[in-house]
Amino acid sequence: MARYTGPSCRLCRREGMKLYLKGTRCETSKCAIERQWRNQPPGVHPFGRGKLSEYGHRLREKQKLRRYYGVLERQFRRIFSEASKETNTGEALLLLMERRLDNVVYRLGFAPSRCAARQLVSHGHFLYNGKRVTVPSITLKPGDILKPRDRDATKKLLQLNLSAASGRTPPQWLSLDADSLQATVASLPTREDVSIQIDEQLIVEFCSR
Ligand code: SF4
Repeated sequence: MARYTGPSCRLCRREGMKLYLKGTRCETSKCAIERQWRNQPPGVHPFGRGKLSEYGHRLREKQKLRRYYGVLERQFRRIFSEASKETNTGEALLLLMERRLDNVVYRLGFAPSRCAARQLVSHGHFLYNGKRVTVPSITLKPGDILKPRDRDATKKLLQLNLSAASGRTPPQWLSLDADSLQATVASLPTREDVSIQIDEQLIVEFCSR
């Protein structure tokens, strides 16, 4: 399955905000956005591109969302076409992104970043409703159960990640039993559960051209 393998901080610098792509490093002073001399768009002439056009603003908003959730253009278009069947396309788009399996693994604290969560899923560390799963793009629904595979190494790794992520609490729409490491999707997420600052209307305008 295709994925972006270039420098992560470059993506944050392009969007001018933290996208939390590198796990614990993102919380330290090593983050490029925290450093004055690094917090500028990538490239030789970072400020020589003039003012962004309306098209540019919409494009940046779309790229920001894609990069935050780690999905490539084709997957994004598929999710957008699913969202466009709903009345509020923008909100539906964000909530579909939020319900992706790799995002859920990250939000539960099982992985330090969405990228690491994606790897944990694709390496088969989880059972989804009792079956081993390797597809990070699955959309979860209320009542779904996620738990680690019955392997000591998997459980140890997830416990370690959970304790490192103790500062991050899972959102209300997910419930987690920290002893058995079993998580349940309690309800659907709401717009307030999406933590990235984004104007989804601009994305809808961009994709509906
Ligand atoms: Fe983005 Fe994290 Fe790099 Fe900071 S450390 S620029 S938040 S990927």
